[in-house]
Amino acid sequence: MANERAEGPEDDGGMGRLLRERLPRHPATPVLRSAVVEALMPAGARQSWWVFWMPPACSAVATALVMLLWIAPSLPSAPAVDPAQLVARAVLVYTHVLPPTCGSCGLKLERRYLGESVCRCGR
Ligand SMILES: [Zn+2]
Repeated sequence: MANERAEGPEDDGGMGRLLRERLPRHPATPVLRSAVVEALMPAGARQSWWVFWMPPACSAVATALVMLLWIAPSLPSAPAVDPAQLVARAVLVYTHVLPPTCGSCGLKLERRYLGESVCRCGR
């Protein structure tokens, strides 16, 4: 036991040294040498796959942004209604000062006198 500890875990009675000295050494084949050299020192830095797609993707995004900036102002939006005016009219209708009117055509919902035109959107 004490003898094995003195020699160390790598040297098993000098067998490793004998194998290194007596076993024949075979040189690597040229194909293996060239593969190792190519793996260790690549000729040129390889480009990533996304580098090829970067210019078309950037141009597509730029075109989309320009079209969005150009088209967005011309898109239809809700009609500009003054919220204060809307609330004031609702209060006046609620207090029976003004008659209720249709939201789409703007005509009164009920007649106040004969012959007056009223909303017919719901009919
Ligand atoms: Zn109406």
